[in-house]
Amino acid sequence: MSAQSKQVVVVGAGPAGLTAAYELSKHDVTTTVLERDPTTVGGISRTVEHKGFRFDIGGHRFFTKIPEVNRIWHEILDTEFLTRPRLSRIYYDRKFFHYPLKPLDALLKVGPIQTAHVLGSYLWAKAFPSREEVNFEQWVSNRFGRKLYSMFFKTYTEKVWGMPCTELGADWAAQRIQNLSLGSAVKNALFPKRGDRSITTLIDQFEYPRLGPGQMWEKCRDIVEARGHRVEMGQSVHAIHHRDGRITGLTMVGTEGELEHLPATDVISSMPISEMARRMDPAPPAHVLQAADKLRYRDFLTVSLVLDAEELFPDNWIYVHSPDVQLGRIQNFKNWSPYMVPDASKTCLGLEYFVFEGQGLWARPDDALIELGAREIETLRLASARDVRDGAVVRMQKAYPVYDGEFQKAVATLRAYVDSIDGLQQIGRNGQHRYNNQDHSMLTAILAVRNVLGERHDIWDVNVSEEYHETMERQVPRRVERTPAAAR
Ligand SMILES: Cc1cc2nc3c(=O)[nH]c(=O)nc-3n(C[C@H](O)[C@H](O)[C@H](O)COP(=O)(O)OP(=O)(O)OC[C@H]3O[C@@H](n4cnc5c(N)ncnc54)[C@H](O)[C@@H]3O)c2cc1C
Repeated sequence: MSAQSKQVVVVGAGPAGLTAAYELSKHDVTTTVLERDPTTVGGISRTVEHKGFRFDIGGHRFFTKIPEVNRIWHEILDTEFLTRPRLSRIYYDRKFFHYPLKPLDALLKVGPIQTAHVLGSYLWAKAFPSREEVNFEQWVSNRFGRKLYSMFFKTYTEKVWGMPCTELGADWAAQRIQNLSLGSAVKNALFPKRGDRSITTLIDQFEYPRLGPGQMWEKCRDIVEARGHRVEMGQSVHAIHHRDGRITGLTMVGTEGELEHLPATDVISSMPISEMARRMDPAPPAHVLQAADKLRYRDFLTVSLVLDAEELFPDNWIYVHSPDVQLGRIQNFKNWSPYMVPDASKTCLGLEYFVFEGQGLWARPDDALIELGAREIETLRLASARDVRDGAVVRMQKAYPVYDGEFQKAVATLRAYVDSIDGLQQIGRNGQHRYNNQDHSMLTAILAVRNVLGERHDIWDVNVSEEYHETMERQVPRRVERTPAAAR
């Protein structure tokens, strides 16, 4: 069958789905994209607009080592890309610490008494390390001492993952924090090694669309539509049909419940892999559905505040390690791009809360969340609650696929099922239950399109480890299989 006689349905208009449609449109393959959201493309990489103020779901830096991805970004946005300086710091105990942590800066800021405490607890950990190194807390404390662990690791990590550090696996800490110890960190601060310049540059600056990441994906949608392909908003997957091990079509369902059948030779899907399994017609075997039920997610809430203040702080974002507030991170969108704020006398902050859907803060009314946000920035002394003029709340389901003790086996089962159906490909972040950034999500889409065109690529082989993804919340811990007695 020639590529042009194929009919492809793409599920999701996030970075992965729109990249697939964009690449297919270059080859004249008939493509329909379905997007569940009634109005907004971009998925987690969207930009939300509230009375002219624009904000992301977390700030989205554009950085990649994948040339094809870079080429697509620049083809789409051309001169609309800005190169922005990066400043991010940790807020702890009413002080700002450079991030990534610089040990000398940190020790000078905490003062002589805390420094003595840090060094004492470090020496103690060296002399009497915890023999058992099963969980995150034990691993970090053994290398840095309990004091530094409690200052710069515990609170934020627990906010992000919603579980105690004693339940997060030591293997995750070992993988991400690698061979760093306090001694080597101090040595590196005093005698910095000449590193990979390209990585340093990526950490010090990044590319960003003038109007936020949503601009990229809105423009991408426009290009796909201008090339004659459909992007159907407000449409979810009702059923993915297959027969004799081959995709035959897909039924989509609109916001009013109306159904439409689309014949298809291929389905390229960025919907969560767990949801895909539940939508297959005929249904998969019971063990596949059981695997789908095992996958878990962490959800995300942004409280965006508009303040009557020209400049509050110079950072793009601040990690909030203080345990006295619930928010985990604050974005200052003006510092991402001045074009995100329509009135230069105002500032728009994005307060980030890591939550579980339906529980706690997720279920609170928007007004109460805006009030909470205003109170918390005042508690942190970053701004006065009186200066808050307006606010908006965005809830993002399934922002983080959770890597727990069961996910690997469950994903392997689901993947084997996907591989057994000709014409079905799962791409992107939740599509593969992988902690992909935009670039890796896009690469899975690029390879999926090449497969439709007759090449053979293993889209599960896309490498997700990038050494310059240095931020804690971008690394996904694994829950420990057994909880040590002390932590129970
Ligand atoms: C807080 C945070 C910060 C981040 N920062 C960065 C960053 O700085 N740089 C970076 O590159 N990446 C960043 N990322 C990662 C980035 O957001 C994702 O990699 C990217 O959005 C994944 O693209 P995707 O298309 O796979 O999935 P998504 O963005 O999740 O898009 C999937 C789309 O599919 C739609 N959909 C789902 N189910 C259905 C269905 N049944 N029917 C129809 N439509 C459906 C959804 O509505 C959504 O629009 C960050 C993520 C988070 C959570």
